[in-house]
Parts: sequence; structure tokens; C-alpha cells
Amino acid sequence: MPSLALIAHPDSGRHDTGWGHPEHVGRIRAIPRALRYDPELFHLLEHREARHATHEELALAHDPVYVSTVEELAARGGARLDADTVVSEGSWAAGTAGAGAVLDGLDLAFGDGPRRSFCAVRPPGHHALRDGGMGFCLFGNVAIGAHYARRRHGAERVLIVDWDVHHGNGTQALVQQTADIRFVSMHQWPWYPGTGAASDRGPHANVWNVPMEAGLAREVYVAAFLSAVDAATVGFVPDVVLVSAGFDSLAGDPLGGFTLEMDDVERLTREMVSRAEHWCGGRIVSALEGGYAPERLGEACVRHMRALV
Ligand SMILES: [Zn+2]
Repeated sequence: MPSLALIAHPDSGRHDTGWGHPEHVGRIRAIPRALRYDPELFHLLEHREARHATHEELALAHDPVYVSTVEELAARGGARLDADTVVSEGSWAAGTAGAGAVLDGLDLAFGDGPRRSFCAVRPPGHHALRDGGMGFCLFGNVAIGAHYARRRHGAERVLIVDWDVHHGNGTQALVQQTADIRFVSMHQWPWYPGTGAASDRGPHANVWNVPMEAGLAREVYVAAFLSAVDAATVGFVPDVVLVSAGFDSLAGDPLGGFTLEMDDVERLTREMVSRAEHWCGGRIVSALEGGYAPERLGEACVRHMRALV
């Protein structure tokens, strides 16, 4: 049986931001293209089409009024939620498939497997707030997943790690009230969205923010990230690990100044896999967040999946 599911949905391509927008449809198309150069990996994956998350599932983390608003705006042809966050006609289908992919990954992890999933989805999710989208994000896919794992699968403790170059402010906002969900976010500082100071630990001290300068040596980021993960899991054994896999932390990304390379993607992934094996029988659900150089993004997803397999 395959050890890794690749969960995707063609509706991810229906979230139409326009080609001038950094979070354009070419990002998601780059993933199957990169996978074509690795036919061996392709055949090792369990390929799954995501389901669409329901209103009730989205409301695990969002205000139901906001959820309905996104659906209505999409049905009316779209609107702009802020300067860079777009709802298009296809965005409801894309957004619900993105969250649904993570929920499917959790159903597999807690069911008959595979224990590990990578959700190749867009729009990303980690900036989305309870009652509004921001920073290209509509729904907090990973945060919804964390609450779903607890509610639906009886997971007590959930660890979320986020190596996107931007602070996962939405994820933090959507999970920090739940002490048994721990959140580790490494991000460029100062940088968009301006939150994520190390001193911001949330009301239950269950948040580990790791703000980092741009342009440091690659290994400094890797070490800082892993040491935060280890600090966050002292006396805390997660039942599942969720990964906000943002690949805008790679060198050369137009929206970030970190210096990670493909080998670091592999290293970070392997480190999380081995910890998850130790903690929870290897349950990991990873979801794509940022990454705005499509070719690099495609390659990074392949390296990430290689390490997850
Ligand atoms: Zn980002």
C-alpha cells in the first residue's frame, strides 16, 4: 500500500486571480508538470481527488456568516476581499476543495491510510481569519483540519508547523484558544503581515513564533525551525502533525527573502516524518501554502513528497 496520498482537485484551478497576481493558477499546474519528471514517485503515490468541505466543516474555524458570504460572492461572479485577496466565480469550489483535501488527509491518517498526505491545493489558507480572508487566503485549511481531527477523530493533541516565509497569523488566530493545538511558525521578520513576534505566545502559551531576518545562511533557518518544533513538543505528544508547506521560503522567491534550497525542503520534511513516526505512527497531513516561483514550487513539492514517501 502507498505510504503517501497526493490529494488534489481540478477545482483548485478555478480560483481565478488573474495572471498578474502572484498566486495565479500556474502555481498549481507546476506540480503535475514537475511530477512528470519523476515517474517513479508518481507510481508510489495514492492519487486522490479531494472532497469539498461542507459549511459545517468550514465553521469549525470560521464564522458561518463569512463562509456564506464567500459562497454568495462567488455565485455572483466574484469580488475582492482586500487589495490582494480575490474571490472569483470558481473560488468557492476551489476553497472548499482545499479545505476538503486536508479533511480527507485526516480521514486517511486516522482510517485505513495512507498515514501521510500532501494536499496540492490553492488558494492557500494560513492568513485567513475567522470572519474574513486576507493575504490570498480564503479558508484556514490547516486550522480547520486541526479542529476536525479533534472533533471527528478524537485526536487530543495536534501540532501544526508552518515554514512558509510569512507568519501564519490566520492559523494562529484560529487555533490559539485551544491549548491542545500547538502551533509553530517560522517567518521572515519584519515582513507581511507584520504579526508573529517571538513574544506572542497566544493566551495559552501554545504558539511558538520564530521571526527570522532575511538572507541568513540556510542552515540557520533549518536549525531554528527544528529547535522550535522540539521546544513545542516537550511533554506534548501530538496525535497528528499538520504542515503548512509554504515554499516561498526558498531562495529566489519573489515574495520572500529566505535562502532555503531543495535539500532543506527534504531535510525539514524528513525531520518531521521521523518525529511523527515516533509520536503518532507517522500521521502527517501537509498542505501547500505559498511559493510564488512556479517552477521552484513544482520541484519543491516533488522533493517534499519524495521525503514524505
Ligand atoms: Zn507565504
